[in-house]
Amino acid sequence: LGKRINSAVSEVTKANVVDQTAVDGLLKEISNALIEADVNVKLVLNLRKKLKATIEKEEKPGVNKKKLIQKAVFDELCDLVDCKETELYKPKKKKTNVIMFVGLQGAGKTTTCTKLAVYYQRRGFKVGMVCADTFRAGAFDQLKQNATKAKIPYYGSYTEADPVKVASDGVEKFKKEKFEIIIVDTSGRHRQESELFAEMIQIGEAVQPNQTIMVLDASIGQAAESQSRAFKESSNFGAIILTKMDGHAKGGGAISAVAATHTPIAFIGTGEHINDLESFTPRQFVSKLLGIGDIQGLMEHVQSLNLDQKDTIKNFQEGKFTLRDLQTQMNNILKMGPLSKIAQMLPGGIGEMMNQVGEEETSKRFKRMVYVMDSMTKQELDSDGDIFVDQPSRIVRVARGSGTSVTEVEAVLMQQKMFARMAQTTKSMQQGGANPMAGG
Ligand code: GDP
Ligand code: MG
Repeated sequence: LGKRINSAVSEVTKANVVDQTAVDGLLKEISNALIEADVNVKLVLNLRKKLKATIEKEEKPGVNKKKLIQKAVFDELCDLVDCKETELYKPKKKKTNVIMFVGLQGAGKTTTCTKLAVYYQRRGFKVGMVCADTFRAGAFDQLKQNATKAKIPYYGSYTEADPVKVASDGVEKFKKEKFEIIIVDTSGRHRQESELFAEMIQIGEAVQPNQTIMVLDASIGQAAESQSRAFKESSNFGAIILTKMDGHAKGGGAISAVAATHTPIAFIGTGEHINDLESFTPRQFVSKLLGIGDIQGLMEHVQSLNLDQKDTIKNFQEGKFTLRDLQTQMNNILKMGPLSKIAQMLPGGIGEMMNQVGEEETSKRFKRMVYVMDSMTKQELDSDGDIFVDQPSRIVRVARGSGTSVTEVEAVLMQQKMFARMAQTTKSMQQGGANPMAGG
């Protein structure tokens, strides 16, 4: 999706004159890309109208159209996924906060219950989990196993068949014991859909949740809209958790779910492990969707590791990215591991390489890229790479010196170019449209 939108934007802005036909073509291409990424058709048509208005408003000569369009697309997508109408519930310490999970079977409820329990436990809350899924055999065992692994107290029953009774008994028990957060996991399937929704209503009435969360599988595409609407009617949830964002989910369905239910996304699930839960921020989500890389997330991760990166961040913020920056970052990435997590936050090449050749081979290639940069002179490292274009013999020298090949040196130079371009884009986006004349 990102590639298509970005190349459409480049296409139209390469032209000397950006005329009406060019803009119309661009809008059509963007719309098609979004529809293919499972965004609801009506939403896309709306977005198209808004974009058109924004672009046409800026008819001043000399205004940098490319940045204007890029920023407009970015902002409109953020707006779609950023639900401002409903505020997220914040659990309070020294009080009972009951959180109820709803969602179809297989969406990831039970897994996510444990992730959220761990998340709050680490923040100092006393957390318990209740298994109110009496429909599926083995549901209680699954929750019990997860809870035990995470050292979270749990409640459930092998004999009681009434989920409403189990839910209220569990909540009662934990309330008496002064638990601060009680998470109620529910079933996601029934003999009849209507029975499932009736059960959600009954459990809700029995446990009176402070917050109801719908768990939504990000990979279900267009179905996200109708599914979330149906649950909204029966259980009026106040937040969404989007799971399986680590897979190849296109994410467009999430935008539709937010728009259809006017409910914010609280977290995203990015794997099967207990720690694979991340807070949701619209800007990061859209950055990923557009393929410009999750710079903010990456920077935060790097920062949390206390690695050597001060100059790189400073450079990046100024829209620069030298080969030395690439060297520092690659060294850091090798130190950071596991590579797969990091690679997903990077734009273009590296993430794809990871998917194609696997972690071990990527790691090997990474190391060779570092050898390449280790063989560069100080002057070369501090350059933007153009020095190699002016004097190609340098490429041959570096290849020989590092025991790699010319192709590998070129790959390093390409990677650095990509980051440099990204630094530019990020800088101009952060500046917003305030100064569209700045930069190239
Ligand atoms: P439930 O039926 O809604 O309770 O769903 P489960 O919690 O049992 O999860 C169904 C499957 O999805 C399990 O195999 C989970 O390991 C998997 N799963 C849940 N969340 C994620 C996620 O964020 N990423 C991935 N890759 N798998 C997940
Ligand atoms: Mg379950």
